[in-house]
Amino acid sequence: MSSLPLVFEAPKRGLPPRHFADLAPDERKGAVADLGLPAFRADQLGRHYYGRFETDPRTMSDLPVQARDAVKDALFPDLLTEVRHLETDSGTTRKTLWRLHDGTLVESVLMRYPARGDRAERITVCVSSQAGCGMACPFCATGQGGLKRNLSTAEIVDQVVAAARTAQDWGRDMRGSQALRGRLSNVVFMGMGEPLANYGRVVAAVRRLIDPAPAGLGLSRRSLTVSTVGVVPAIGRLAEEGLDVTLAVSLHAPDDELRDSLVPVNTRWKVAEVLAAADNYAAHTGRRYSIEYAMIRDVNDQPWRADLLGELLARRLAHVNLIPLNPTPGSAWDASPQRVEQQFVRRLEARGVPVTVRDTRGREIDGACGQLAANGA
Ligand code: SAH
Repeated sequence: MSSLPLVFEAPKRGLPPRHFADLAPDERKGAVADLGLPAFRADQLGRHYYGRFETDPRTMSDLPVQARDAVKDALFPDLLTEVRHLETDSGTTRKTLWRLHDGTLVESVLMRYPARGDRAERITVCVSSQAGCGMACPFCATGQGGLKRNLSTAEIVDQVVAAARTAQDWGRDMRGSQALRGRLSNVVFMGMGEPLANYGRVVAAVRRLIDPAPAGLGLSRRSLTVSTVGVVPAIGRLAEEGLDVTLAVSLHAPDDELRDSLVPVNTRWKVAEVLAAADNYAAHTGRRYSIEYAMIRDVNDQPWRADLLGELLARRLAHVNLIPLNPTPGSAWDASPQRVEQQFVRRLEARGVPVTVRDTRGREIDGACGQLAANGA
C-alpha cells in the first residue's frame, strides 16, 4: 500500500508562457493594446479561439498581416503538442497524449455518446489539471507517480478547445450517417491531478469554459464537473465562487479507517467533514453532488459498507457513481465481481440513494479512470 506523502504545493518551476486563454476579458484588452492593436481585436481573437477553435493567428485572415506574428508570439504560444492519440470503443473514445512546453506529458480523453431515444448526444472531455498528482491514492496510477507541476489556466482550457475541435471534425466526418452534431457538451476534471490543489488556475479555466463567446466557450455550468479527493477548505471556497458547476467527491470508503489508506487526504479531513462540505456546496447550487466510489474486490465492496454508505447518504442531495476499479500496474487490487457490484447497488437503492455504474470506456488504451499516467511517450 502507498506510503507516498501528500503534496499540496506544486513545484513553482515550469509554467508555460502566457497565453490568450490565461486572460480574463479585461486583461485581454490590455494585452492587445500592448501590441499596439485596438481593443476590438481582443473580441476578434476570442471569436477565432473560443468560437472556431483556431489557435494560430497566422491563419486568421481578418487579422492585419503585419500583426499576425506579433500576436502569435505574445498571445498564442504552442502549449500542447500532440505526441499521439489512440482510439477505442469503435472510435467513440480517444485518448490524446500531449507534450507541454517543458517536455512534461499529460493526457486527456474524449468520449462520444450518441443520441439515444430522447437523450441528446453527449460529447465529454476528461481533462488534466496537474501534471501528475500529489494526493497519493494507492489505487490510482497518476497518484502513484507523484506531482510534477500545476498546469496553467491556458493549458487546461487548451485541452478543452482541442477536444471541441476534434468533436467538430467528428460531426463533419459523420454528417448524414448518424444524428451527430459534433458539439462538445461536457467537461470533467477527472484526468490527471487534483483540481482543487491547483485552485486558482482551475477556477479561472472554468470561467473561460462558461463565459459565452467571444469571452469563452459558452458551455453550460451544470455540464462541467469538478472532481476532488475532498480538499475541504477548497470545496468551501468553490461554493462561494458562484460557478455552480457539478461537484464530484471521490469517497471510495464510508468509514475513516479504510478511507485513511485509500484516499490519504482523509487523514486531514474526515468523511463527515467532506460530506458536510459537499452538503454546503449543494445548498449553494441546489443540485445534487456525486460520490465517486471505485469498487475494489474485498477491499471496499462488502455489504456492510454498502449499508453504511447508504445510511450516510440517505438524506443527502447526493448520488453515487460506482466505478469498476481499473487495475493499475503493480497493484494487487482488482475490480469487484459483477454480482458483488449488483448487490452493492441494491443495498444503496434500498435506502433510497440514486446509483449509477460508470461504464469502462477507454480501458484498452489505458484511457480509463486512474490510468492516465502518461508514461508511454
Ligand atoms: N483528483 C481528482 C480527480 C482525478 S481522478 C479526484 O480524485 O477526484 C477521477 C476519478 O477516478 C476519481 O474518483 C478517482 O478516485 C478515480 N480513480 C482513480 N484511479 C482509479 C482506478 N484505478 N480505477 C477506478 N477509478 C479510479
